Amino acid sequence: MTTLAILTAAGSGTRLGRDLPKALVDLAGFPLVLHAARRLAASGVVDSLVVTCPPGLAVEVGELVAHDPQVGLPVRAVEGGSTRQASVAAGLRLAAADVDVVLVHDAARPLAPPGLVRRVVAAVRQGHAAVVPGLPVVDTVKRVVPASPDAVTRAEGPLAERVVETPDRGLLRAVQTPQGFDRAVRVRAPEAGARRADAEHLAATDDAGLVEALGLPVHVVAGDDAAMKITTERDLLVAGLLAEEES
Ligand code: C5P
Repeated sequence: MTTLAILTAAGSGTRLGRDLPKALVDLAGFPLVLHAARRLAASGVVDSLVVTCPPGLAVEVGELVAHDPQVGLPVRAVEGGSTRQASVAAGLRLAAADVDVVLVHDAARPLAPPGLVRRVVAAVRQGHAAVVPGLPVVDTVKRVVPASPDAVTRAEGPLAERVVETPDRGLLRAVQTPQGFDRAVRVRAPEAGARRADAEHLAATDDAGLVEALGLPVHVVAGDDAAMKITTERDLLVAGLLAEEES
């Protein structure tokens, strides 16, 4: 029985405005993907890694991660697909027969700490088939009718979107990665997701959403601020401060 971590690093990360894929952007001297791989390895509960890589970069990224002394795990690299979900599927195809727990983790969350990885894996091994780390939501959240692209282009003043609901903030969690799964459940999940009208939205952002579509329970364990996602240049600056604080 072993745990495989699929580290998704195949995105282009255009919002960062760099001319290299986000996973290869530098944070405190090392690319994001290496930070993420090191912390997965340091958890002591991951047995092997599959890294999904941008087109044409599987060899380069695979060697970078596999040869890092702080990783020290069997590493395989595969080219990702055109969507995050296609990348995860490519990673899953490389899972060895003895893998019973699968973690899916975004290289875009490079500082997710080893303790968080252990918490997620422990909850799966306790019998929860799908586990996500989550944090309480500090802002009040509104569900709106989104403005049409037409309205966005036509708007001269501030764009106003109609509010339809204010969910109870106490019941909301902002979820992170790594997300952990019983392997058999995760392998079945995309079929159920594909039957749902909102499958594209689910597949884009959240593996556990696909398991929910199967009608199976998903559980949330405590997340960690350090598992913040890097999307913008500002996120990179904040993560740089966190990385400094860590060392
Ligand atoms: O673009 P975003 O930051 O939401 O992507 C989340 C994660 O999924 C990133 O780590 C990115 O590298 C990965 N990804 C992928 N394959 C894609 C798109 C994104 O592995 N086609």
